[in-house]
Amino acid sequence: VTARANTTKQDSTNPFGIKISSRDRVIYPENGLTKGDLADYYAAIEGLMLVDMAKRPISLVRCPQGRAKECFFQKHDSGAMGPHVKHVPVEESDGEVQDYLYVQDAKGILACVQMGTIEFHGWGSRASKLEFPDRLVFDLDPDEGLDFNEVKTAAVRLRALLADLGLVTFPMLTGGKGIHVIAPLDATADWQKVKSFAERFSRAVAAAEPEMFTANIRKNQRKGRIFLDWLRNQRGATAVMPFSARAREGAPVAAPIAWEELDKIRSGAAYSIRDADELLDRAGSKLLAGWGQAKQKLPKA
Ligand code: ATP
Ligand code: MN
Ligand code: MN
Repeated sequence: VTARANTTKQDSTNPFGIKISSRDRVIYPENGLTKGDLADYYAAIEGLMLVDMAKRPISLVRCPQGRAKECFFQKHDSGAMGPHVKHVPVEESDGEVQDYLYVQDAKGILACVQMGTIEFHGWGSRASKLEFPDRLVFDLDPDEGLDFNEVKTAAVRLRALLADLGLVTFPMLTGGKGIHVIAPLDATADWQKVKSFAERFSRAVAAAEPEMFTANIRKNQRKGRIFLDWLRNQRGATAVMPFSARAREGAPVAAPIAWEELDKIRSGAAYSIRDADELLDRAGSKLLAGWGQAKQKLPKA
């Protein structure tokens, strides 16, 4: 029995039967975390991750030799991802139809990890209803050197402004410098309407609170402020998926949090791939019950 248990481990195989090669390859040189560690993290949280990511067109950040070497952003199918990574044809703005990727189970996630994927980024809509986004994302991007406390203040402010329009929102640490404020939608408004709302809302917020926010993407316009990145809300744009690992120092992950706990969180990279157990516990707790779940109409204004 012992021998068999050992074999299973050395077989480079996970409970889902996806072979992970080179488990010992170091992906995060700063702390020695390996491809095997990354695969184990994803095998542990796959169920949580799929709640949001399943059947969304996704883009992958692949770093086959680890995060410190060459990484690339993959949007389209290269034909090499195997049977568990699915395809959805998407007509792009130039009229060309391209196959985008999606996954619907743990096998799909792990097949991507086997191919060197660290990060998963998703569209705002699902493959079955591509033209109707089911969420708004406001990506808070602080100016260089701005304290995380400023990001928290801005997120709370944004929550209140969106609540004034009737929208319930959920915060997510990006695993990087910022926070995403997410408003789930009922997928009845199309991209044009959703993008238009996101832009008008963001410009109005920046005009009303110019000390805190800018809606201008240009870095030299940021000046100690937070860029309210509304461009995540256009067709073809992506945002990092909840529970995705990041190809950044320390193996941080994008982590759903509750508004009630934001006060005591110190950084956008508070959780890492070492924290699978804690993330699972948290997700099952009262604090995060119903996170990301709401069927809301896009406000009219
Ligand atoms: P941070 O909190 O550090 O800003 P982030 O994930 O929000 O982390 P951004 O640089 O603000 O990072 O990017 C927002 C989103 O834009 C990303 O999550 C990703 O989905 C998308 N994105 C980033 N880089 C690219 C790229 N090269 N091509 C296409 N989309 C990208
Ligand atoms: Mn950001
Ligand atoms: Mn951004």
